[in-house]
Amino acid sequence: MDLAKNENKNQPKFETEKAYCSYLEAKWVDDVEDLMTEVGQGYFELLVESLSRLFDADRVFIASFDLDYQYGTTVADFNEGQACDKYDFFVPGTAYADIGRRQSVIIADKLQQFYLQQESLRGYTSIIGRPVLDENGSSIGMIVVLTKQPLPWIDAVNGILDLCLGRIENEMLPLYKARQLNEMNHQLLRELAQSNQLKEELSRLAYTDRVTNLPNREAFLVELKVIGDMGSYWIGLLGIDFFKSVNGSIGLEYGDQLLRAIGQRLGELPIPKLKVFKWTGDEFMVLGFAASETEIGQQLEACARAFDAPYDIHGSPVKITRSTGATPLARHETIDSAVKAVNAALHKAKIRGGNRTELVRESMVAVDTEFFHVHSMMQEGIRQSQFTPYYQPIFDPKSEKFIGYEALMRWIGSNGQSVFMPDQFIPIAERSGLIVDLGKEMIGTAVRNLHEWDLLHGSGRELSINLSSLQFHDQSLVPDVDTILSQFDIDPGMIKFEITESLFIHDGDYVLEKLQDIRSLGCRLSLDDFGTGYSSLAYLQRYPFDQIKIDKCFIDDVIESTKSRALIKAVRILSADLGMNLVAEGVETEQQADCLTAIGVDYLQGYYFSRPMPPEQIDRTYADDWRTLHDPAQNGMELR
Ligand code: C2E
Ligand code: CA
Ligand code: CA
Repeated sequence: MDLAKNENKNQPKFETEKAYCSYLEAKWVDDVEDLMTEVGQGYFELLVESLSRLFDADRVFIASFDLDYQYGTTVADFNEGQACDKYDFFVPGTAYADIGRRQSVIIADKLQQFYLQQESLRGYTSIIGRPVLDENGSSIGMIVVLTKQPLPWIDAVNGILDLCLGRIENEMLPLYKARQLNEMNHQLLRELAQSNQLKEELSRLAYTDRVTNLPNREAFLVELKVIGDMGSYWIGLLGIDFFKSVNGSIGLEYGDQLLRAIGQRLGELPIPKLKVFKWTGDEFMVLGFAASETEIGQQLEACARAFDAPYDIHGSPVKITRSTGATPLARHETIDSAVKAVNAALHKAKIRGGNRTELVRESMVAVDTEFFHVHSMMQEGIRQSQFTPYYQPIFDPKSEKFIGYEALMRWIGSNGQSVFMPDQFIPIAERSGLIVDLGKEMIGTAVRNLHEWDLLHGSGRELSINLSSLQFHDQSLVPDVDTILSQFDIDPGMIKFEITESLFIHDGDYVLEKLQDIRSLGCRLSLDDFGTGYSSLAYLQRYPFDQIKIDKCFIDDVIESTKSRALIKAVRILSADLGMNLVAEGVETEQQADCLTAIGVDYLQGYYFSRPMPPEQIDRTYADDWRTLHDPAQNGMELR
């Protein structure tokens, strides 16, 4: 390769590189004057044009890279004597990928040998490509000079590019950053939109039957949870007789069409509150609301009639028969047993030849033995008054005194020795509805205990009582509490009901009314297990609570976790703003107590102060100085 030979057409010939260099520099000084006044895009456009003239190059362009060096975009491009529009090009595998990796590409001749595959370099003989770097040294773009003739004095050309690069970098950086930000925003928005769409789609799919678009079994279970008190509801399972052979004779596709038509008919029945769910392949579940067994019969009859009328499938009438099992939910202890029962009834109807309705009889209910065992023991326990509150003191760190107790239910076994904890029996009490009677009894006993202590040691103790969802929704709760309070002549303001967020999946106005009813008795309200639900903050503003109890899980790691501390501090500020007091439960160590006191939590409760104790013992202890409670000898009543 003969570099000494200058073959450029329109330029004076130079004997030495030095001479060429002086020529370039002198000419460049003139151009720089004009370039000085230009900024941004204008600067780039003028620069590529000037350089292309100066070097007598066939093409000079400046381009920027995208974030992952997949695409480049020309910023200014002077090609064959003309300014060209911007365009995007693919980077990987080209000379530009090397520039993206912060390398300069400088080839004076026979460029083709180096980048055989690169179509866009075809026809050129030499290249100078220099990366444009950002302040961290990453390549954000490039300036490229291409000539069809060999470039004999390539170092001289490169030297001029050196002079330009600082300014190019300064001009490109803000443009690049703006673009980068834009790209990142777009990417983020795209991801967000996708993930929201995906989430919606997934949850829709999870609760919807694919063929009929009806809500499915999962949706049925959710619906029942939302209903809560199921006393007036009934369920019916409708199954197509011989669906397999129906499918076989009309074809699978028309089988799906038939299922959709059935779903639609049932869904359009003019029965208030009736809901239709797709059950298994050929079965539909209806959930209805009726005031009497007669009304259930009427609604079921309407469903069956709708089901039975011929269907128009592919222009011809299709007649099917169905079997039905139905039952009022009030007959069953659990949803599970109700569903098992209608299933059994449906299959019995099918066995008997189909096209009939079987109503559930007691004998069909499959027995959940453990449940019934505990349940009947509990009924016996209630008769024998084996359920009793234990009391756990709530401590005021400011006055260093106990201000009152939380009543926690215990089941003392028939031997008088074993103590069963709430997690062993409350779930069964809730499933069976026994919690309503049990809870009423607890409220009665606790209020009576409070009254006795008031008489013995003077009044002023507060009493917190837990309410479960079923109790809360029980119509007789408010009148019952009213009666109990008046029996014992207790200041209702001393009674606080603790409820958890799980109640709030019900209709908000209804909950608000219920809460207001309780408050209108003069009693107070505490939001228990705060922080474990989904939207606790929203509830605080909506509902009239007097107190927030931060859940134990935040107290457990209050020493180690800045996150938990930050949450407690935030809730502290919020509760003060809303005029509520703040309680920390599950305080187990002195360190936790000190930390929570320093944050400004109003009251503390936990094993560190005292375990829950039976009424007689708490009474004895309460009369003494609170400090004796720290003595484990007097404090070890309850071991789990
Ligand atoms: P809860 O209302 O969150 O009650 C606090 C639970 O934490 C109690 O458990 C208490 O004994 C326990 N606890 C208190 N301090 C500490 C501590 O420092 N460390 C630890 N590890 N635990 C502590 P318990 O008595 O087993 O009650 C469990 C749940 O049963 C209660 O949770 C409440 O939801 C329910 N419950 C208890 N009594 C009744 C009642 O009379 N009616 C209703 N509906 N539910 C009740
Ligand atoms: Ca509680
Ligand atoms: Ca709690």
